[in-house]
This record gives sequence, structure tokens and C-alpha cells, in this order.
Amino acid sequence: MNKEIIIVIDFGHGLPDPGAVKYGQEYQYAASIGREIAKRLPDNVKVIYTRTSDKALNVDKGRDLAARCAIANKNGAVIFVSIHLNAGGGTGYETLVYSPNEEANIVHAEIKKVLDKYKVKDRGIKKRPDLVVLKGTNATALLLEMAFIDNKADMDLLNNQTYFNELCQATADGICKAVGVTPKSVTGSSAVATGSDQVKEEETKVAEQYKKDAAPSPRFEEAQKWAKENGISDGTYPQRPVTREEVWSMMHRMSKVK
Ligand SMILES: [Zn+2]
Repeated sequence: MNKEIIIVIDFGHGLPDPGAVKYGQEYQYAASIGREIAKRLPDNVKVIYTRTSDKALNVDKGRDLAARCAIANKNGAVIFVSIHLNAGGGTGYETLVYSPNEEANIVHAEIKKVLDKYKVKDRGIKKRPDLVVLKGTNATALLLEMAFIDNKADMDLLNNQTYFNELCQATADGICKAVGVTPKSVTGSSAVATGSDQVKEEETKVAEQYKKDAAPSPRFEEAQKWAKENGISDGTYPQRPVTREEVWSMMHRMSKVK
């Protein structure tokens, strides 16, 4: 039996809250980017959207955000990707996370290739443990700020179909690598094996050696359930060894459990 890989894509805001507005409306751009990413994911993953209409899940902002998290948690998503556009006078792309994690590094690195190609500012990976969708999801959650909606140059580039497609493709490829599935189509691949290719090979080996959705040994079932319910770990790869940094991260998350 092969458990389905569930990826939740969240289009950020929804009416009556349009999100940030200037050279377009955030909720509309987020939806078109999110749909394009989903289109570029392989058939063996199941994509669930938190909303398909223009409307938020609840007119109350707090309830809307909680409902988005609940969709990911109820469906056992392996990764939750929330699409946003930034505002406030800056430029470029950034990835927001609850705490540093490997999935974010992988997705960010894929997107960075496109940013570098088009000389878009890489604002990096930022910790935002205060954000509800990052805090409230059991799955690894990433919030991608794709561009600044109040920056004309950012939006001109995003409206360029080639850039738009490459950005969405890179995001889809990054998500695939992060969750250990083969991307639908490979772009920008090079024939020369580089150091990072070797790292990727190593990651693939680990994914083959330890099954992501393996059942935990019966005596660890309760602990796994507790770790998942409290957002300490997404409960994947029960048999895989942990690194020191992963232990720190789990202890850090545990310190936040009320
Ligand atoms: Zn937003």
C-alpha cells in the first residue's frame, strides 16, 4: 500500500481581505501562482487547496487562518505552502518559516536559481514563528513571498510569462525535492555533476533507505502522535536518524508547547 503524498497549497488571503494591493491584488496573484505550481506537480501527489473561490474561509481573520491550518492537519499534508505577495516598499523574494528546516532550504535553493538568473533580490529564509499558518500546521509549512505587489519592477517581471512560468516551475521542483518525489519536468538541469548534485543524490538515497510514511514501531506510536499533535515533528521518516540540528529544532519547538 502506497500512502498518498498530500501537498496543501494555500492562496493566502481571500475576500473580503484582498491582501496587499497596488499593482494588482494579492489574493488574485497568489491564486494564479498557486494554481500554476500545482499544475507543475507530478500526478502521484495529491494537491489540496485551502480555497478555490475568491472568498476567505471565514470573514473573521483568525478563524480563516485556523481553518486553513485545519485543512492541512485533517488531510495529513506532508508540506503546506502558502503563497503571498509582499508589500511595504521592498523588492525581491523571501521564504518565511516557523523555524529553519531542510524542506525550506531545498525549495528556497530551487527558487534562488531563477532569482539569480533574473537578478531578483533574494531576501533569504526568515523565521516568523508568530505567523498562524506556520505555527498551526503539523506539516512543514512554508510561506513564500513571491514579489512586492507595491514595486512596479517586481510586478512587471512577475507579469512576464516566461519569468512567471520559471518561478512556478522552480517552486514545484523544489517542493518535489523537499518531499522526495520526482518532479514532473526538469528544467535548468546541467550535464555536469556538481557538489550540490551529489548532495541531492545523497538525499535521494536517504529517501529510498528510510520510508517517509513508514509506520512507527508500536512502542513509539504514542510518542509520534504526541510529537505530531504538538507540532514538534511532522512524524515522517520514523526510522531515519536525526542530526544534532534537527534535535535542536525539535527541542526548540517543544519549548513552545503550552
Ligand atoms: Zn499576504
